[in-house]
Amino acid sequence: MRADLHIHSNYSDGSFSPEEIFSRAVGKGLGIISITDHDTVDHIQPSLEQADKTGVVYIPGVEFSASTVDRDVHLLGYALDHLHHGLLEYLDLVRKRRVERAHQILELLRRQDIVIPPGELDSLPGRRIISRPLIAQLMIKYKYVGTLEEAFVRYLRPGTPAYVPYKLADPGEVVGLITDCGGISVLAHPSAEEFETLAPGLCRAGLQGVEVFRPRLGESESRLIADGAQARGLVLTGGSDWHFDTGALKLGDFFIEEERIRPFLELMERGR
Ligand code: AMP
Ligand code: MN
Ligand code: MN
Ligand code: MN
Repeated sequence: MRADLHIHSNYSDGSFSPEEIFSRAVGKGLGIISITDHDTVDHIQPSLEQADKTGVVYIPGVEFSASTVDRDVHLLGYALDHLHHGLLEYLDLVRKRRVERAHQILELLRRQDIVIPPGELDSLPGRRIISRPLIAQLMIKYKYVGTLEEAFVRYLRPGTPAYVPYKLADPGEVVGLITDCGGISVLAHPSAEEFETLAPGLCRAGLQGVEVFRPRLGESESRLIADGAQARGLVLTGGSDWHFDTGALKLGDFFIEEERIRPFLELMERGR
């Protein structure tokens, strides 16, 4: 079967509902998917219902944001207990922190003569989690920038006028939280350099996997990560990190053959 273990819906910064994603998955022949929205579990119940309806296998997943002093680190938690009390408390804090941060970003943009009514943040349909791509979309809507990339390069990324750093959680703490919820923790989309830098600490915290199968990752870089993963006893996962149709990549164009993620699937089965 074909798998894609990293997809975003409109419960965070993707454009499509779980229902639309499952319907596209069926159309494109994906047999195993994970919708892994940012810092929320609200997409999991609707996704489980769609899995029942369509026969596509759904692996519950969340993409957690964390940071070290100098970089953002994303961690995927798979097959976790999405009703875990500590998890829900943590996500509630993150949600509040994200709303505060979004208002701070709008204020910094206003100082650059980019005026977006803060009320816009309350009227984003279907979305519970506010992240920078949504602010970038508002900047496009109000015609201050032409593309998402331009919004990030000029205003939203580190070193630009409206960047607001946010200390959410330490990556090791997130690995611990995923473990507490009975989930499998996976480092999302690292470069080889990021993997080498982060792996020792994260492995001490209990990291179980790393994402290597993904679009736009070169052969030699993915080999380096896979070798490092093998040396550390980590399983390999992967996915498209698809948010919406831009340019060439449509949902289902990128996929992983089930055999390549067999050790991950077996680890998940053993955990049950
Ligand atoms: P946030 O959760 O607010 O920190 O925003 C992070 C999200 O922004 C990531 O999950 C990506 O989807 C998106 N992102 C980061 N950098 C860029 C970029 N240069 N262009 C477009 N989207 C980006
Ligand atoms: Mn995203
Ligand atoms: Mn990510
Ligand atoms: Mn992602």
